[in-house]
Amino acid sequence: MLYPEEFDVIVVGGGHAGTEAALAAARMGAKTLLLSHNIETLGQMSCNPSIGGIGKGHLVKEVDALGGAMAIATDESGIQFRILNSSKGPAVRATRAQADRVLYKAAIRRRLENQPNLSLFQQAVDDLMVEGDRVVGAVTQVGIAFRARTVVLTAGTFLDGRIHVGLDNYQAGRAGDPPAISLSARLKELKLPQGRLKTGTPPRLDGRSIDFSKCTEQPGDGMPGGTTTALPVFSFMGSIDMHPQQMPCWITHTNERTHEIIRSGFDRSPMFTGKIDGVGPRYCPSVEDKINRFADKESHQIFLEPEGLTTNEYYPNGISTSLPFDVQYKLVRSMAGLENAHILRPGYAIEYDYFDPRALKSSFETRAIQGLFFAGQINGTTGYEEAAAQGLFAGINAALQCRGEETWLPRRDQAYLGVLVDDLITKGVTEPYRMFTSRAEFRLQLREDNADMRLTEEGRKLGLVDDARWDAFSRKRDAVSRETQRLKSIWVNPRNLPATESERVLGKAIEHEYNLADLLRRPDVSYQSLMSLDGGKYAAEEGATLGATEIEQIEIAAKYSGYIDRQHDEVQRAAHFENLKMPADFDYSQVTALSFEARQILGKHRPETLGLASRISGITPAAISLLMIHLRKGG
Ligand code: FAD
Repeated sequence: MLYPEEFDVIVVGGGHAGTEAALAAARMGAKTLLLSHNIETLGQMSCNPSIGGIGKGHLVKEVDALGGAMAIATDESGIQFRILNSSKGPAVRATRAQADRVLYKAAIRRRLENQPNLSLFQQAVDDLMVEGDRVVGAVTQVGIAFRARTVVLTAGTFLDGRIHVGLDNYQAGRAGDPPAISLSARLKELKLPQGRLKTGTPPRLDGRSIDFSKCTEQPGDGMPGGTTTALPVFSFMGSIDMHPQQMPCWITHTNERTHEIIRSGFDRSPMFTGKIDGVGPRYCPSVEDKINRFADKESHQIFLEPEGLTTNEYYPNGISTSLPFDVQYKLVRSMAGLENAHILRPGYAIEYDYFDPRALKSSFETRAIQGLFFAGQINGTTGYEEAAAQGLFAGINAALQCRGEETWLPRRDQAYLGVLVDDLITKGVTEPYRMFTSRAEFRLQLREDNADMRLTEEGRKLGLVDDARWDAFSRKRDAVSRETQRLKSIWVNPRNLPATESERVLGKAIEHEYNLADLLRRPDVSYQSLMSLDGGKYAAEEGATLGATEIEQIEIAAKYSGYIDRQHDEVQRAAHFENLKMPADFDYSQVTALSFEARQILGKHRPETLGLASRISGITPAAISLLMIHLRKGG
């Protein structure tokens, strides 16, 4: 049956990429349909019930700054929050939260169900409708054909998914969910470049069978015994009042006996016996991989993380495994506190298809098929946060295409999202890609705390940011700007500042005139201490008193201004070639001064700008100079 309504955007898949894609497109006014296997699993966390972490938390804040759902859903479902690297510089500070799985899914579903312009439909998609080189819709398992101007595919680990437990394996999308076999076959037929990756998950444990008295308690921030007294909040629109009850995690360790048990299962490991070909995430290895690779390490820390407030299920973070169940059973029970642990769900590995992201344009539209966008794990990434950020991005660009507008792509110095997209389309992946702060060359300006300052204005222009967020943001931005100006305009000098006050707040008497903004640049001077100077003479007027987030912005901008200005100069210097557009029909074979290899690579990748070209593996700075000369000469 041909469904009687036509859509602007169809999103296939209701995971973290799909839900953000559908919400973003609909927020921008596109008539959107989210097609997924099962409405009950929208926003499901396939693996660990946690959101954020270093690099990943940065992405979540950016999604939030653009009006996305992940951060606020985490505020509504988070049962433990922590600021990682809290004693380090602001660039690498990151929020991580343990979420109640059920509450998280409910928070996402509520947003989907209440989003204007968005319809949901439960069915597996088996086929894509393609006319010429353009996608025009999707066909479900029972033959319902939905027509649309664009399709965003976010099928996660489901495409030709195969689960492995020991030497046993079967087809599935993840445990308990069906695989997408027909769709995978259809994509292969379309000859999009494809490969296999794998990821894994640990067995889940029944908390009633864990002896927590033998484990070390790990409270979250804001809990008794936590690193800080303040309870973190993820969303710029969130508050601690949204958080449900907070819970501790627990720590136990593997030991020599655990390692022996694991080694005894190597001959039945699908990884070591060649049953799995797909490459797994290096930074999130299975426990058998860790024991194999770091043979001299006597023990590994295992975090026991609660899965929610209404379940006894625990996620033992650190023992992801695809070893046979009898080995899993013994290895779990070899650890302190887990001697009698009951496994609720076995651990497993899953192999799945991914598609080479170098075959995507900078909008995430496939170069081969117009109107078809890919986002999430299908692009070779791993992680909820990476998926959510890509989903939002593809949803935006699909909606823009429907409006006949140009692609939106944040720059590498503007957002981790820019780094993520740029890395994927220029370098591709050799293993599941995850975000790290080290991937960003301009990380001092890509902080969690200023994600809204970097992106909310753009989000508003795109139509992603609602009035409530815009008002809150505008108030914050204006307050920061007013106060920064005020600090720059107030001058203190040895004549009008008593030496005792100067010594108390600044550590020593000032020798000449300074403005307050200059004084705030000193490492040991805080905004609050400046405001206490000389009996509070320089404090902001009542009513203009600032909140903690505004003060944080003012302090960081002052203290790191030297570095930030330098990074800004670097960006400016590169700008002359970064945004130089490469004509879509550019004939690289004409640039005979380029090496044959460079001409081949560029001809295959067809980068849209010289900046993107410069980051493709195998393209040297010399090749970029040659191209620049060629373009300037007018081809
Ligand atoms: P998914 O969350 O997989 O969602 C895909 C969605 O698409 C689902 O709703 C599915 O039902 C739907 N769908 C698929 N095909 C079709 C179709 N044909 N028709 C209709 N609907 C369809 N990440 C980490 O960061 N660390 C880890 O250690 C880790 N381990 C993992 C272990 C396992 C076993 C699994 C399964 C995942 C793991 N992940 C891990 C990855 C994490 O789950 C994903 O990165 C993230 O969920 C990807 O989001 P996504 O939206 O791309 O896809």
